[in-house]
Amino acid sequence: MSLVCLGLEGTAHSFGAGVVSSEGKVLSNNWDMVSPQEGGIHPREASRHHSDKGPDLIVKSLTEAGVSFHDIGLVAFSRGPGLGPCLRATATMARSLALKLGVPLVGVNHCVAHIEIGCLESRFKDPVTVYVSGGNTQVIAFAGSRFRTFGETLDIAIGNMLDVFGRTVGMHFPAGPGIEREAGKGANYHTLPYSVKGMDVSYSGMLTAARKLHSEGVGLTDLCFSIQETAFGMLAEVTERAVAHTKKTEILLTGGVARNKRLGEILSGVANRHGATFHTVSPPLAGDQGAMIAWTGILQYNAGDRLQIADSHVWPRWRTDEQDITWRLSS
Ligand code: AMP
Ligand code: MG
Repeated sequence: MSLVCLGLEGTAHSFGAGVVSSEGKVLSNNWDMVSPQEGGIHPREASRHHSDKGPDLIVKSLTEAGVSFHDIGLVAFSRGPGLGPCLRATATMARSLALKLGVPLVGVNHCVAHIEIGCLESRFKDPVTVYVSGGNTQVIAFAGSRFRTFGETLDIAIGNMLDVFGRTVGMHFPAGPGIEREAGKGANYHTLPYSVKGMDVSYSGMLTAARKLHSEGVGLTDLCFSIQETAFGMLAEVTERAVAHTKKTEILLTGGVARNKRLGEILSGVANRHGATFHTVSPPLAGDQGAMIAWTGILQYNAGDRLQIADSHVWPRWRTDEQDITWRLSS
């Protein structure tokens, strides 16, 4: 019998509701993103956005999936990591629904969900995952029953670096697509701090240096080109070492920054050099959305995971490698 899961995602700027069946069919996936007029995301404003938009998005996703509330057999929600107020608003909706419908509840790790939905789409079994978004920059691989973070940013996320630089030069949020467009027209490389420390990367020095070059009159196209080549080169180095170390034969690129064609090109070069297969998660499943939460919820539920309402508080600092991945064979 097919199980239908409603997944709610609300770790940061986006609220998403997705409906997925236990066969791995994404029946619907709708989301809405808070877009501040200026500056960054305010956690309280974002949580209010989730509470305001959540109910309509849930109904929209059920309608599109062609199911009613009574067809839902499981409710999954993003338990962390993320912004406290956003997580709590989302968890409250999930708890109420699970209680009202009398169905089980599971709490899902946002980063793990990005990997699992990528594996569902690519049919990859055991990839090195490069997860790059507004709030995260991680190179992750499965080892010894957990998803291990092999490398990550020591300061700001790559998407955040692009957005803050974009804001400095007058681009709209999110700035990633504009930077990619400008970079395509640039050709002269200006040296920026290339900062790989062990297996970790750091983007704050690059951001400061790029802003300084901009204030000194370096053209935007060349600057965007230099930012991309440096930032993506750093990620490629860490990914290459993770692949060489783990001997895995698949590389998965996901998260909002995965939309960048140049990043895909560079990482697919890494895959070629190591005889690995490369896949970029398609844009509707690469960003923050509910389908990834629903699908991972099904995997957890099938492995016996259940969350009591009384124990369902959120975990804003839940790390990827703090969860036993019971549905995967230990390697
Ligand atoms: P997410 O946090 O997963 O929703 O992704 C949003 C982030 O992806 C923002 O920081 C965007 O600037 C970034 N982004 C979106 N499209 C692109 C692109 N084409 N190139 C680089 N970054 C992008
Ligand atoms: Mg994300």
